[in-house]
Amino acid sequence: MPAAVYQADGSMPVEQLPIPTPGPGEVLVEVSHCGVCGTDLHLVLERYARPGAVLGHEWSGTVVAAGNSDWSVGTEIVVNPKSGCGTCRPCLLGRPSVCLRRPPPDYFGFRGAFARYVTAPADRLLTLPDGLALRTAALAEPTAIAIHAANLAGVAPGDRVLVTGGGPVGLLITAVLAARGVRDITVSEPAPARRERALEVGASEAVAPDSLEQAPMGRPVASPFTFAFECSGVAPAAEAALDQLDYAGTLVFVGTGRDWPRINHNRAIVLELTIIGAYNYDADGFGPALALLASGDLPVDRLVEPVDVSLRELRSTMDQLAAGRLPGKVLVRPGADV
Ligand SMILES: [Zn+2]
Ligand SMILES: [Zn+2]
Repeated sequence: MPAAVYQADGSMPVEQLPIPTPGPGEVLVEVSHCGVCGTDLHLVLERYARPGAVLGHEWSGTVVAAGNSDWSVGTEIVVNPKSGCGTCRPCLLGRPSVCLRRPPPDYFGFRGAFARYVTAPADRLLTLPDGLALRTAALAEPTAIAIHAANLAGVAPGDRVLVTGGGPVGLLITAVLAARGVRDITVSEPAPARRERALEVGASEAVAPDSLEQAPMGRPVASPFTFAFECSGVAPAAEAALDQLDYAGTLVFVGTGRDWPRINHNRAIVLELTIIGAYNYDADGFGPALALLASGDLPVDRLVEPVDVSLRELRSTMDQLAAGRLPGKVLVRPGADV
């Protein structure tokens, strides 16, 4: 089967690999669509991945061999995240995404879905809600991340929200918040194409980062925000996000990055700010994300780039994504390669 295989020099040629054999309790799935994630970009462009790894973790597919499970061939599915142990401290707090007993994530030797076929645990498959296309279902994972970030933060419709970074994650969080009735969302983003897209997915305003107000010492800016979601992973954006918060405001870190921001702790103290990180998913997994995607309340056609790419086109697409030339989520269709 064709698969995009990471090489030490940062390239990702399509190679022919054996179709994986499902183990006990597993099924074989043909990948329909797999999204390109910021994590994939970090791993490939910054060369963190292990040579030989096949990346890709935002995917949907069709069962093609059911093994000894009860699933039928042809069933369209996504794979739900592993649930936590249920007994450790984070699990008891309802946060299995940071369960103390989860196996360490193997981002480096990953066997992912930038390939025609993958195996999956039969007990973690989720069928798609009626009317939800496989292509849209490939957004289940990033949508679950956006829902989790919104839930952890505790945003309510009356909040004034700033999103720094209008890439795929920032756009999805904007769209999820808008679908929940948040009306006042400002996206701060340097790329004009992404600012334009932000307005199309639910932002009430889209601004260039340098137009954000300078914060006066010890008190809020003139039009402060109650929440800021930092989705760019860029240190100055995080610093600006903190500066834009109102008294008792909350900064949510969502985007990872290489350079760490300098946190103005004096500001956090005087304004009694809360700073949290959001990673992974809620305890109920991908179900709510699939339901939201099926509801029609998300502008899926504006969140996803209109043209899907083949495995062969994936590596050059990553360069375009990193350069900010493609505002939305890019989906890979491994079935396009032979
Ligand atoms: Zn991801
Ligand atoms: Zn646990």
